[in-house]
Amino acid sequence: MTDYAIQVDHLVKRYGEVLAVDDISFTVPSGSTTALLGGNGAGKTTTLSMLLGILLPSSGQICVLGEDMLTHRHRVLPRVNFSSPYVDLPHRLTVRENLMVYAHLYAIARPAERIAQVARQFDLGDLLMRPAGKLSSGQKTRVALAKALLNEPELLMLDEPTASLDPDTADWVRSSFQDYQRRTGATLLLASHNMTEVERLCDDVLIMKKGKIVDHGAPQLLIDRYGRNTMEEVFLDIARDRQWVAAQ
Ligand code: ATP
Repeated sequence: MTDYAIQVDHLVKRYGEVLAVDDISFTVPSGSTTALLGGNGAGKTTTLSMLLGILLPSSGQICVLGEDMLTHRHRVLPRVNFSSPYVDLPHRLTVRENLMVYAHLYAIARPAERIAQVARQFDLGDLLMRPAGKLSSGQKTRVALAKALLNEPELLMLDEPTASLDPDTADWVRSSFQDYQRRTGATLLLASHNMTEVERLCDDVLIMKKGKIVDHGAPQLLIDRYGRNTMEEVFLDIARDRQWVAAQ
């Protein structure tokens, strides 16, 4: 029997007139790295926000780590974490104060020890007493990683984790997540526009378009099915409605 970290059933999210997520159902196997792909406005961030319990669905069911998100969100949140370059830490708090706030939110038993541990792991020593708003992009990236792994999450959701990073830093971020996963067996769900990243990291891919899941499968399986050489080409086929032509 497959063990699923995420089970989504007939999930819908409306923002007034906008149907951002249109009746999607999918599963994410425990320990896998799954990509959530789709063009701008496809509904990826809205889906991740519902999985994280930040947004309430209009209808449908979400089960995360075996718990119903609507009724037992508080049990799930300490076991999950999230990273996105678009979410800033409060600027005036120092890095240490920021990490301490998260440590309390995640109910970490010995927060000072755990912060010291991630500070060593991500070389934050000199940064801990600096205001979070005064860091360079590379320094912010290291702090964001420390925050994402602070509670040793069983499920890590990443919204474009390497957007706007230089290739060297992006590679380091990917390796850090891969190392963490190999060490802990955690599940990773990743929204990304970087198809090379998807081919390198992901076992499985879900492709969204206009709020719906329009295809899914392992990267190589999708590349073969569309008769292409890369996920970039598969993505373009789907974005430009060429999937049926390509599949024939
Ligand atoms: P991107 O790749 O551009 O980040 P996305 O796939 O993450 O896109 P979402 O941000 O989930 O897409 O947006 C899905 C749809 O919902 C879009 O049409 C967007 O304009 C709309 N939308 C998102 N947030 C809101 C909101 N707070 N109020 C109204 N409409 C919203």
